[in-house]
Amino acid sequence: MKKSVFDPMLLTAIREVWSDLTLWECHQCGQCSAVCPSLSHGGIRIREIIERVMLGAINVEKEDAIWSCMMCQSCTERCQLDVNPSFIVTLVRNLASERGHIPKHYLEEARLFIRTGLSFPKTGLTKKMRSEMKLDDIDIDQKTMDEVKFIVNRTRLGRLGL
Ligand code: SF4
Ligand code: SF4
Repeated sequence: MKKSVFDPMLLTAIREVWSDLTLWECHQCGQCSAVCPSLSHGGIRIREIIERVMLGAINVEKEDAIWSCMMCQSCTERCQLDVNPSFIVTLVRNLASERGHIPKHYLEEARLFIRTGLSFPKTGLTKKMRSEMKLDDIDIDQKTMDEVKFIVNRTRLGRLGL
């Protein structure tokens, strides 16, 4: 574990958006890691991330592991102490993106979502696959784009300068 890194602003920044912090309830049982599909593919070590957040021992501008979380919520459902590990990852990601550390593919997805209401390109292949699955073609109307605008405002996605 990289304990040599210390970011005194980490917990302060997290508390600013989540005052009811249950982080300190964590007793490092590791049940969150046991159910994490990302870890089983060599991704995020969620128990370790929670420990490092408690210690302020994450350099959010360089930490790549936070971006391999799939936001499946399994860890949060499993945690018996309501630590809400997946939400903590979200808060750390927010801080990282505000400091300019966000993977390129996430930025591209966000740009596409703001512009088209879809987080993936609409191609002939997607149309064909939807047709094979007997799904309607995707139709992004003005009402949907208004909802996209609402989501962008509420999540402050626009702050990333997209
Ligand atoms: S976050 Fe919850 S499940 Fe994970 S180590 Fe801490 S107490 Fe255990
Ligand atoms: S939300 Fe993220 S950290 Fe939690 S179990 Fe899913 S992939 Fe793992």
